[in-house]
Amino acid sequence: MIEIYENLEKSMLSIVDYKNILVIDNEEPLVPIIDDNNLTAKQRGEDMKEYTGDVVYVRQGTALRLGRAADLLVTVEPDIALNVTYGYRALQVQTKRFETVKRDLEMQFSGEELDMAAHRRVARPDVAGHPTGGAVDIQITRQGEAVDFGTRIGEFVPDTYTFSPYVSMEAMRNRMLLRTVMMAAGFAPFDGEWWHFSYGDKEWARYTKQPNAVYKQLNFGSSIFENTGEQE
Ligand SMILES: [Zn+2]
Repeated sequence: MIEIYENLEKSMLSIVDYKNILVIDNEEPLVPIIDDNNLTAKQRGEDMKEYTGDVVYVRQGTALRLGRAADLLVTVEPDIALNVTYGYRALQVQTKRFETVKRDLEMQFSGEELDMAAHRRVARPDVAGHPTGGAVDIQITRQGEAVDFGTRIGEFVPDTYTFSPYVSMEAMRNRMLLRTVMMAAGFAPFDGEWWHFSYGDKEWARYTKQPNAVYKQLNFGSSIFENTGEQE
């Protein structure tokens, strides 16, 4: 059983795959995700609430593609919807999360291996997608309740890996449905977490073989929020 999880880990992209990817930011603003019938968003991360409350911000191009993915999803079944629980994350929050996970794994790993193991749980800040505003954590809901994905969104257990063979057929079908609509809309998946997808960041650039990423990481204070007037 452990061997299967290890093999799944080997097939995932790791830090070395995309740390040298060039970023040419296209300067799209961060915009709030506005709820509609087939796309909802509510901040799940307690650590971002002090910055944005319940509102989830993403870059404009990510918001546009989320709309496309939601429109595709309802062609499969009209009363299911996409629900975003996380988007933009301040860089300082990312750093704090990564250091916490690293401390938890210090007994098992060291050096570069420790970074890689921690990175499978929380992206290392220098390559992380959430601080660019391009990455989202997302699930499918039916009447406001999450459908069966085998784990809850944000739950870190071995079956969090997208291709874990130990989740039910229904959970795997839901994972593949989510993956299909997100990829069709232009997102890159992350096989270490069934709920994580990104557009515009380094992971997306590597996965979709783009010459460069289009979203750089943004500090909260200097970020380009919509309607906030002057940019530094
Ligand atoms: Zn994520």
